[in-house]
Amino acid sequence: MTLKLSHFIAGEFYEGHPIRVAPIINPSTESVIKEVVYGSAKDVDHATKAAADAFPEWAATPPAARAKVLMKWRVLIEQHLDQLADVIGAEHGKSKVEAIGSITRGTDVLEYACGIPSSLMGDYSANVGRQIDSYSMRQPLGVVAAITPFNFPAMIPLWICSVAIACGNTVVLKPSERNPSCAILLAELAIKAGLPKGVFNVVHGAKETVNALLEHPTIQAISFVGQTATAEYIQKTAIANGKRVQAFGGAKNHALVMPDIDLESTTDAILGAAYGSTGERCMAISAVIAVGDTVADQLIEQLTPKIKALKIGCYTEGAMEMGPLITQEHKQKVLAYIEAGVTQGAKLVVDGRSSSIPDKGYFLGGCLFDQVTPQMSIYREEIFGPVLVVMRVRSYEEGLSLINQHQYANGVAIFTRDGDTARDFCARVQVGMVGVNVPIPVPVGYHSFGGWKRSNFADHGMHGMEGVRFFTKLKTITSRWPSGIRQGVDFSLPTL
Ligand code: NAD
Repeated sequence: MTLKLSHFIAGEFYEGHPIRVAPIINPSTESVIKEVVYGSAKDVDHATKAAADAFPEWAATPPAARAKVLMKWRVLIEQHLDQLADVIGAEHGKSKVEAIGSITRGTDVLEYACGIPSSLMGDYSANVGRQIDSYSMRQPLGVVAAITPFNFPAMIPLWICSVAIACGNTVVLKPSERNPSCAILLAELAIKAGLPKGVFNVVHGAKETVNALLEHPTIQAISFVGQTATAEYIQKTAIANGKRVQAFGGAKNHALVMPDIDLESTTDAILGAAYGSTGERCMAISAVIAVGDTVADQLIEQLTPKIKALKIGCYTEGAMEMGPLITQEHKQKVLAYIEAGVTQGAKLVVDGRSSSIPDKGYFLGGCLFDQVTPQMSIYREEIFGPVLVVMRVRSYEEGLSLINQHQYANGVAIFTRDGDTARDFCARVQVGMVGVNVPIPVPVGYHSFGGWKRSNFADHGMHGMEGVRFFTKLKTITSRWPSGIRQGVDFSLPTL
């Protein structure tokens, strides 16, 4: 019998009143691993109520005491790394190394959240007026919801939820319906760590369940990560329902490759960033802008055999480097882009469609396009697969201008040995996260993550102080202790 994955509400499994039950498919084998219930509005209401009931006590818990629970949660996650990585491998297809790496980047933020007492420290000004002092405090919002994508089943829920919880909020997480088991494991470990029941709840489902969260009057804020079209919808709907919202969307991340690069290390950096996790990373490098034909030719020459040699396979094969795409539907979408690239006149240097791949599973070999132009859909749009496009420009300025015109602006990297050029690039590039000879510049937990333009519909980034600002309300107190001196009535706006 197929195992059915239920919601996890107030520390217990809860089947509720599902809209439907859908299969969870192992993308490496195409077999059904489990089934998952899709929560109805009633189920969302149940989860929200549990979170609302837990809120007053959790908000009143001293931040240092909250941090102690988070520390235990972090230790438990570390102790269950293998189990979590296997669950990610089975439902997503990531290699064990990649899965463990992604969980570790998630616990980095959990570690940041353990320092919440200092992040919540307010400002204090004595004597802002005679006998008047002023100070600020950051208070939690209440019940908040996180809606997360398939590509990082542990990391992104941890990025959002650990900061939200540390700030004193209670959370309803709606993980991707493609790989929801990891979120349940994380929630179970949180309970083991001593997190009070109802502080962290998980409901499953897709659009209808998300709509119920967006419309629920108790939910104060929505933190979303996913495709740009969904992010735009989430932002508009959440605002229409009076909620605070941050919605992170898709990407097309460029690498600007200057003629003075160290060829070998740049090739390796681009290879890992373009094809790691099968290109299903919002910070994957998917477009190389080569300055000059010489460096373009050299790079392509170096990349070609390495792409052809990528080890493609199931996460259980220790040596594999590239797993499957997430679904058959997504594979068809990526194949359609490859076809469009060929039709539109780009040169397909490496055709991953003819790579040797396992019989079953949504595998696809790495693809490399050269002679790509800005009008082509393989350049304009996010493919989210193992497809790298190379464009040739004559100058640094031309490359910078191309990058700055793109609709997406999540991450970018420049490869050069020239400090002057790199410095100018950092100042003028219109992108949220910039790498200098660092291919995937994902900020560490105590800095903040967030792109610009159509990669991000949010005023605050994820984690670091930006995360704390998003998940708290600022209150400023002005207080007077008059020592028995009468001030008299004053109808004017108080001044010094
Ligand atoms: P998705 O937008 O399909 O799904 C994300 C979440 O939204 C899921 O929980 C899903 O159930 C829900 N959802 C999907 N369609 C919906 C709809 N119409 N209405 C309401 N909710 C809906 O994204 P995905 O395919 O799971 O993830 C891949 C995308 O996420 C890529 O575009 C990638 O670039 C992006 N991503 C962005 C970041 C970032 O920080 N900018 C990080 C990771 C992934």
